[in-house]
Amino acid sequence: MPFASRQAFHHLAALAKQVGIRPGGSPAERRASKYVLNHFRSLGLEASVEPFDVEIPGKTESECTIEGLGRVASRPVAATANTPARGLSGPLVFVETGEEVHLPEFRPGQIFLLYGELGPPEKYAPLMRAKPAAIILAENLRFIEPRLTKLSHEKREAFGAVPTLRIGFADADRALRKRAKRARVTVSVSHEWRRSQNVWGVLRGSEKPWEIVTVGGHYDSVWAGYGAQDNAGGAAVVMELARVFARAGSKRTIRFCTFGCEELGLRGSTAHVENLRKAHARHKPDRKKWGWKLDESPLEQHRLMLNVDLQGLLMGENYCPVGGPPELVAACKLLSSEMGPSFKFDEECYSSDNAPFAHAGIPTAAFGRLGVELMWAHTPADTLDRCWEESLQPIGEYLEEFLTRYVARAKAFPFRREIPEAHKKKVEEYFRGRVFGYVDG
Ligand SMILES: [Zn+2]
Repeated sequence: MPFASRQAFHHLAALAKQVGIRPGGSPAERRASKYVLNHFRSLGLEASVEPFDVEIPGKTESECTIEGLGRVASRPVAATANTPARGLSGPLVFVETGEEVHLPEFRPGQIFLLYGELGPPEKYAPLMRAKPAAIILAENLRFIEPRLTKLSHEKREAFGAVPTLRIGFADADRALRKRAKRARVTVSVSHEWRRSQNVWGVLRGSEKPWEIVTVGGHYDSVWAGYGAQDNAGGAAVVMELARVFARAGSKRTIRFCTFGCEELGLRGSTAHVENLRKAHARHKPDRKKWGWKLDESPLEQHRLMLNVDLQGLLMGENYCPVGGPPELVAACKLLSSEMGPSFKFDEECYSSDNAPFAHAGIPTAAFGRLGVELMWAHTPADTLDRCWEESLQPIGEYLEEFLTRYVARAKAFPFRREIPEAHKKKVEEYFRGRVFGYVDG
């Protein structure tokens, strides 16, 4: 049976509703991983779990009182720093979006009110040098409660941290309109290391098993939401493609994967690529073997990575950033104009599990469905009832056809293992600032 959106939707519902909220490193994420593992096993694939460690929030308590408003709803930014138990109060200073040009002169005890996020190191480092006593972040969406997020340990270790919490857009707006001059905050946070896991289902190639393609999508959610579109939808497409090819077979090795902890800064895919790099460093080509030059490490054997992140929107626009040789870009486009769906194509570095693969020199293509509903992503509103079975069929059929033609049946693998210089630069830039900067989780 070809790709069936009904089957995919069944997986989507299992992850987004039966398991529900499944943040990286949580027992719920583990339950979701077992669901995927059982699926891969039932298909007869070589199923395995790849563990890695991740920092998650422990204690997450906060209180925030603003002059003229009284107590307002808040959540701390986990893994930042604690105030004294009784809290601290100080002058409230609005610093716009927190870039260096908006920061005030140092005065002891200032509490910064900042619209948006702590941001990448270029923004975060000057912010820390300005030595606020605490930071209040205002949500940038009007309709959501303050979300729980976490500071990445890389940023905390490199630049330090101050007590930080998040309040709703409307409360921040009111504080500004009333020209509130003082605030009092209490932040009590801790962090701990937990085990998370990627789940693999490997179909070994019948003719050229050393030519490897990974098809992946993350299965974790943010703390604040059910992660239905982001990314139970993508993981479900991957799981259903695994069923199709487990039955149909493939000349080349296809490794289906659902990654853990994407929302915590691509932790699962980063851990996997790290393992590939280590295996590569240990790899000693056997020079006595005939054709030893072809004795590649597992990293070199990787020809392509396809990532599926954000699926299930009823009304939306398909987006496909490709980081690979011109013939890969052309193939993605040609197949789309031949059978649909239409995509917006470009050569950006998509912020998802494809990025660590690209960083290691593996060509990638990412498949997402974007639209106005994307504003629900990373909020409690990203629920199953915003996902549509019908929307999974076109992307599933497209990927099935792509994999059948170019991977499972192709006589020779048609894409060079090359990444254009321009894309390489974008990936480098992304990793410098974004992964451990923007994506605090
Ligand atoms: Zn996602």
